[in-house]
Amino acid sequence: MRFKDQVVLVTGASRGIGKAIAVTFAKEGAIVIVVGRNKESTDKIRDEIISAGHRAESFDCDVTDLKKVQEIVNKILDKYKTIDILINNAGITKDNLLLRMSESDWDDVMNVNLRGVFNCTKVVTKVMLRAKKGRIVNISSIIGITGNTGQSNYAASKAGVIGFTKSVAIEMASRGITVNAVAPGYIETDMTAQLKDAARDGILKNIPLRRLGKTDDISNVCLFLASEEASYITGQTIVVDGGMAI
Ligand code: NAP
Repeated sequence: MRFKDQVVLVTGASRGIGKAIAVTFAKEGAIVIVVGRNKESTDKIRDEIISAGHRAESFDCDVTDLKKVQEIVNKILDKYKTIDILINNAGITKDNLLLRMSESDWDDVMNVNLRGVFNCTKVVTKVMLRAKKGRIVNISSIIGITGNTGQSNYAASKAGVIGFTKSVAIEMASRGITVNAVAPGYIETDMTAQLKDAARDGILKNIPLRRLGKTDDISNVCLFLASEEASYITGQTIVVDGGMAI
């Protein structure tokens, strides 16, 4: 039980990578706060975690809404007094070639993937600053490092997350708070389920480890970055992509 009684807020925890992160921390004794836009799905994950004998709460909250983020953080503080770990995982794609990309597709992706990270970090760091400790892990993407056809909005948002991570890491370092990012390659989730077979085969050819990643490949790295063993690591981006971008 490496995270016994620690309060961990995971955004976008209703499925995919976020769900795996929530379950992984819960198994290690943490009180997991499951956040997503849809109440039914966040409640479902909370109930699954509780049925497995662990602890969880759920909140429906759109991370693009700063007021709502502050509201749920206040509720968490009323009950648990602190937030030890923040995992900024919520993210979306709205892919298109630049010439066909609408302004709303650009704005939506930047709002969730980058502004959402800003909102949650801004609110939660206030709590961590008072406690003089904390761990923040931002889920970026390998696409934020390499770029990709049809993903200029997504790549820009995820590159932004890496720059944001470095800056906040510097600002928070003297206060006992570490801030790191994880850049997954292609992970088996709803987000990649849309890939056609031909595209999937093409991707696999470029992955030296010859498989797509599993959600636990990411959740285990988050667990490490939030652990005591990682206390001297900050401002870093850990690439977890099966060697795709070596
Ligand atoms: P996913 O299966 O589509 O899940 C996305 C999660 O984010 C859902 O829980 C969704 O819940 C939530 N979400 C979306 N917009 C939100 C908002 N405005 N406010 C709050 N929650 C919101 O995605 P995934 O594949 O697990 O990806 C998770 C993260 O990893 C994302 O940041 C993604 O960019 C990154 N990533 C994924 C891959 C991959 O291969 N899968 C690779 C690199 C990086 P609701 O829709 O119910 O709100």
